[in-house]
Amino acid sequence: MMRLSKPKYSFKKTIEACKAGITGNPSLRDKLLASASDLEALEVQYLDLADIGRLYMIPPINTDGNKDPRVICILNKSHLVQIYDQYFVPKSKPAGKIYNALLNAAKEKCPFCGGIGTPRNLDHFLPKAHFPQFAVLPLNLVPVCRDCNMDGKGHAFATNAEDQIIHPYADDGRFFLEQWIFATYHEGNGAKPGEFEYYTLPPDNWSAVDKARVKNHFKDFNLAKRYGTKAGQRLGTELLQIKNMKQIGFDREIIKSILLQPGVDAAPFANHWQMGMYQALMHTIH
Ligand SMILES: [Zn+2]
Repeated sequence: MMRLSKPKYSFKKTIEACKAGITGNPSLRDKLLASASDLEALEVQYLDLADIGRLYMIPPINTDGNKDPRVICILNKSHLVQIYDQYFVPKSKPAGKIYNALLNAAKEKCPFCGGIGTPRNLDHFLPKAHFPQFAVLPLNLVPVCRDCNMDGKGHAFATNAEDQIIHPYADDGRFFLEQWIFATYHEGNGAKPGEFEYYTLPPDNWSAVDKARVKNHFKDFNLAKRYGTKAGQRLGTELLQIKNMKQIGFDREIIKSILLQPGVDAAPFANHWQMGMYQALMHTIH
């Protein structure tokens, strides 16, 4: 749920770069050349639906009884996968530059988990096994960390509005600007350390679908556990500082304003783990 700017590379430019890299396979090159304009036309459809959270309306390709169906114009699934694997991913190919630019645009922060993980590769928002026509569409390629990798999740994709995870390039600003992840702090006792329980609480005025979407996003990427771990790692330091300040004689309002409020203010965006953590500590300090 971290916003990424839309890729500056168009589908057309990317297809051209892929085509320029196809050497020693004139048949594949000709097929791509003949299909390029049909492919390029899909970019508008993708963006129009992604902008309004309706990518689930694009049906997956029909693979009934055919492992390598025709997907678009004269390109089969295997052609599109081959173009991705051999002429888009490798750094030595002209399109490899686009791959790297898309990956680096995330600035080491995975958009799905809010920067807990560092992106290691690009992932297909609509998996290429079911939507090979988008295999090299920049808008469909999102930098992703190992823990969030969707290709590794059995090629899951949403078939209804509620199950769609948040699209970092295209979804509405409310998902990125308004807070919907919060936390409660449970104090420890004796042997048991304190811990944070993260949960979703989307704004009341959101639609039922939007509320369901963030809940599912939170669940799909296991954010309750991952945020809880992250906050737990910082807890010891904060508790020690609170204790020291109390011993010196600071009251709780002072501790809140000079120790905890800055933690809230420094959270990089509304649904960052740090936001929930410091808000929760502010509510519990006594
Ligand atoms: Zn991640």
